[in-house]
Amino acid sequence: MIPTGALLAAEDLHKTYGATTALDGASFAIHPGEVVAVMGPSGSGKSTLLHCLAGIVTPDAGTITYDGRELSSMSDSRRSALRRGEFGFVFQFGQLVPELSAVENVALPLRLGGTGRRPAESAARGWLEKLEVDDVAGRRPGELSGGQGQRVAVARALVTGPRVLFADEPTGALDSLNGERVMELLTDAARSAGSAVVLVTHEPRVAAYSDREIVVRDGKSRDMERVG
Ligand code: ADP
Repeated sequence: MIPTGALLAAEDLHKTYGATTALDGASFAIHPGEVVAVMGPSGSGKSTLLHCLAGIVTPDAGTITYDGRELSSMSDSRRSALRRGEFGFVFQFGQLVPELSAVENVALPLRLGGTGRRPAESAARGWLEKLEVDDVAGRRPGELSGGQGQRVAVARALVTGPRVLFADEPTGALDSLNGERVMELLTDAARSAGSAVVLVTHEPRVAAYSDREIVVRDGKSRDMERVG
């Protein structure tokens, strides 16, 4: 059963890669504006679940519903449009374009969507300010610290106003102090934008920034109530 009011939900997902079972009956649901952490040890199926939810990987069985529509019933072009227009992504390593400055990187998704350079860069500066990295707007990724790079990556993921932000170990390459600051800014910025966040992490310290946790173990999921 898809929970009522869920923006994005998955039910009984199965996925195997050759002899490896990545998902073995995983379910998931997130409501608008909610921050949900997907927890579990390495190799438990967290990234596979995120990739299925984002329409990047097709599960072997099970259903995924976004805004009341099944992903599998959508055409490839509709799914791509969803990823570009309504989803945002942050990965462990920012994956910024090395030749572009921070502000140009953040403006890029808007430029690709047809927004002119000035309005795109002005919106980008606003997001860099929210993420407290406007002072490095003119620098290229190679001239940024790991924490600054991840903040720029978060700004780039939120600049289009996505309804869902997918974050896969967004602080995995940072020390704990920088990681916590990035999580604070990421969740504040997403909440102010009304974006839901699917946060994949194996660190309880990072998951603590979520509203709710889903634990994945051997490809199976379990809902956890937040304690404390
Ligand atoms: P986690 O994100 O929890 O570390 P993953 O979803 O990345 O787990 O992986 C779950 C299992 O599926 C692992 O055993 C992994 O090796 C395997 N797996 C994931 N993606 C692939 C792939 N593209 N090809 C083959 N095996 C994969």
